[in-house]
Amino acid sequence: MPQQFRNFINGKWIEAKSGRTFENRNPAHWNEVIGLFPKSGPEDVADAVRAARAAFEKWRLVPAPARGDMLRKIGDLLVKSKEEIAREMTREMGKVLTETRGDVQEGIDTAYYAATEGRRLFGHTVPSELPDKFAMAIRIPVGVAGIITPWNFPMAIPTWGIFPAILSGNTVVFKPASDTPKTAVRLVEIMMEAGIPEGVVNLIFGGGGEVGNAIVSHPDVDLVLFTGSTEIGKQILRDGSSTLKRISLELGGKNAQIVMDDADLDLALDGILWGAFGTTGQRCTATSRLILHEKIYDPFMTMLVDRTRKLRLGDGLLQGSEVGPCINEGQRKIVDSYVTIGKAEGARLRCGGSIASGGELANGWFYEPTIFDGVLPSMRIAREEIFGPVLSVLKTNSLDDAVTILNDTVYGLSSSMYTRDVNNAFRAIRDIKAGITYINVPTIGAEAHLPFGGVKQTGNGHREGGWAVYDFFTEWKSVYIDYSGRLQRAQIDNYESGS
Ligand code: NAD
Ligand code: MN
Repeated sequence: MPQQFRNFINGKWIEAKSGRTFENRNPAHWNEVIGLFPKSGPEDVADAVRAARAAFEKWRLVPAPARGDMLRKIGDLLVKSKEEIAREMTREMGKVLTETRGDVQEGIDTAYYAATEGRRLFGHTVPSELPDKFAMAIRIPVGVAGIITPWNFPMAIPTWGIFPAILSGNTVVFKPASDTPKTAVRLVEIMMEAGIPEGVVNLIFGGGGEVGNAIVSHPDVDLVLFTGSTEIGKQILRDGSSTLKRISLELGGKNAQIVMDDADLDLALDGILWGAFGTTGQRCTATSRLILHEKIYDPFMTMLVDRTRKLRLGDGLLQGSEVGPCINEGQRKIVDSYVTIGKAEGARLRCGGSIASGGELANGWFYEPTIFDGVLPSMRIAREEIFGPVLSVLKTNSLDDAVTILNDTVYGLSSSMYTRDVNNAFRAIRDIKAGITYINVPTIGAEAHLPFGGVKQTGNGHREGGWAVYDFFTEWKSVYIDYSGRLQRAQIDNYESGS
């Protein structure tokens, strides 16, 4: 019998009211069941929100430096459990061990950043226009935060939301993706061990349509931080509008890497392999388009196809595996259907293009790393997010043309250019429409202390990460203190003489 896990509400592990469960499986060995998790509904969400609301009234009064001390402890505990969590995470979602270690490390970095923010949370003091009067603006917590996350970074993305949320004095209802519930359990266990009081963080498992929607629609949830697909992001904005929630959306991407004719080609090659096929292409920041200068097109393609063919698919826990499986059968079908679309559109399949099923691979959702070239900007494989190991290659003849191609998308998350010309680099930084631009770095590799997010349909203008996310999790309160002992009317008494 597989292990049975529970929701976490008001400091207690409890079953869903429905009594129903769903399975979590290993995408590299689909017959391996990792655990059973509660299939919750709106009634469980209501309990969690009630607990979070009650806890908020106490948690908001805990001094921020003391909240920061708890976050430091969380960071320390994550350091201790890093290897164990990374192994569990690879089993539950498939990416290779070096990457799941990085995923935990991002959580550690985010915890330590939040710990130090406990002694900042800076506001402003400004002069008043009236004598004997003091003016300042301070940050206050917002209330109950719903945190809804995808499966591709099962530790990092939840921590990007939860840690700044609670450091700022909010309380949380957390709904992880159904493909990666186990990592969420470990995260919550660690937060409890570090002394986070009951009710401050609540965890509810279940489907997006039932649990996610119930969080977004609940009148007593003040804000929602959502990371996931653009389609669901739009739905959440609609659902949240009836209660005018503050909503932060981090959504899809169609990220590109440009390689100019003056680039270090070996460096650019290492970059594109990592950007396109790291995490099996299942990153919001994955490189899904490569824009190659015509002067280096043929030699670069030869090198790229050769190296891609040598990438080793396999169980991420095994030494030597470089590319893990797709997250589930549905995702692999989507990848395969885009390969069919690419062929029909007239792009040229240079390698991959099939389900990988040799030997042990037959037990998981593996797909061959795939490259199309001769891709035109109008093709669907150049425009739509695939979220798998498929790279579309386009040709360019100038920097301006390359940037135009790169910008020709509804998304605007990450971008990259390889060049040795500093003038090219700065023009690209100025002209590329994206939330992140890398020079001589692939499109992946964000660091926890910088703002993270995208322009256009990648989001709605908020940022996770760094100092920026604290703007989302706090409200400004402006405070005026008059010590003149008389009524002073702003805009009136100081201009009364008519001057
Ligand atoms: P998804 O949108 O299907 O699901 C994300 C989360 O939303 C899950 O927890 C899901 O259960 C929940 N959900 C689904 N329907 C909902 C609804 N109606 N109301 C509320 N919640 C609902 O995305 P996914 O398949 O888990 O992840 C892949 C997508 O996430 C890709 O599009 C990828 O680009 C995006 N992503 C973006 C970022 C970023 O920071 N920009 C990071 C990682 C992933
Ligand atoms: Mn799983």
